[in-house]
Amino acid sequence: MSERLVIPLHREPAGPHLPPLDAASLPPTPPFLDAHGRPLRDLRISVTDRCNFRCSYCMPKEVFDKHYQYLPHSALLRFEEITRLAHILVQHGVQKIRLTGGEPLLRKDLERLIGQLATLRTPQGHALDLTLTTNGALLQRKAQQLRDAGLTRLTVSLDSLDDATFRAMNDVNFPVADVLAGIDAARSAGFENIKVNMVVKRSTNAKDIVPMARHFRGTGIALRFIEYMDVGATNGWCMDEVLPSAEVIARIHQVLPVVPLEPHTASATAQRWGYANAQGLYDPQLGEIGVISSVTRAFCHSCTRARLSTEGQLYLCRFAHQGWDLRSLLRGGASDDQISAAIAAIWAQRTDRYSELRAHAPAHMQTPGGHPRIEMSYIGG
Ligand code: SAM
Repeated sequence: MSERLVIPLHREPAGPHLPPLDAASLPPTPPFLDAHGRPLRDLRISVTDRCNFRCSYCMPKEVFDKHYQYLPHSALLRFEEITRLAHILVQHGVQKIRLTGGEPLLRKDLERLIGQLATLRTPQGHALDLTLTTNGALLQRKAQQLRDAGLTRLTVSLDSLDDATFRAMNDVNFPVADVLAGIDAARSAGFENIKVNMVVKRSTNAKDIVPMARHFRGTGIALRFIEYMDVGATNGWCMDEVLPSAEVIARIHQVLPVVPLEPHTASATAQRWGYANAQGLYDPQLGEIGVISSVTRAFCHSCTRARLSTEGQLYLCRFAHQGWDLRSLLRGGASDDQISAAIAAIWAQRTDRYSELRAHAPAHMQTPGGHPRIEMSYIGG
């Protein structure tokens, strides 16, 4: 097998230099727009770099084996640190927080963090849209606690309903039935608007697209098909394995007719399609599906996301190779105003649009400067 380049996660943070923190740093004033006029609205927080699955497209077993060095506990942001940063970022416009990882349900006492984040309010006094992405393995056990702690929504990743295919894709022999039981437990716990994410790899689970669509149609669960992305440096990505969203929709439309729907928000990552009734009109009872086409239809121009890694690095793009080390500010005694001013300066100079640039130069899949990309399990999916 060819040697794969892995970014060590336990490295000393070596991100770009933070803006200078002088005593005169004033709290920034809105609007907080980046260099392309994009506001900051969404924050993804990775709460652990560990996962109990070994999906080949994300944390392949050959790399993430028993010798792999995960972050030591002391490197992880503590819940109070995460909440402090989240509070500051909410003042900058964040309205939605998604907890992710690794597998977020592996982080001990996660409900305590959710409880803290649930108390945050936007400058307009609104509660946050507080959601989480999970592989569902621990959901049966934890759904009620998550709900009671204040989690508002949930996304469950599930790549196939075919047990053999799913066990092979998660590569830890985990059965489909247990993920489905987790989804049921989430519904019983009171979660509405559950989403299911399916990453499609052409040669592995494309055959499962229609069975998945049939299974979730009419259940109130929105199934979303994600194009296999060139994240990280370990998954051996190649374009041949990407099934373009247009083809996913065509396959479904052949047997279960769908019509295009308007996006919920301008910055939504998914394009929505609704199941049609006999008259060819959207039938809300049948529900909807979504496609996330970050390879064939990049949406950098409307990207309003920032990502906070497990050890407190702020990344402005999923394909970034370096983050901004906010943990050193937190642990170095910076005030909220200083951290806030630093974040404002970081966001103001944001220029990235990796996926759009890649679309025009598919031969150059590395980040600017040829640096390897950060792994998804570290930066958060
Ligand atoms: N462990 C959680 C889970 O499975 O949902 C959260 C983290 S996971 C990295 C978040 C999402 O990223 C999952 O839906 C996963 O399928 C997706 N993902 C990981 N690697 C991907 C890739 N190369 N292309 C597309 N999606 C990917």
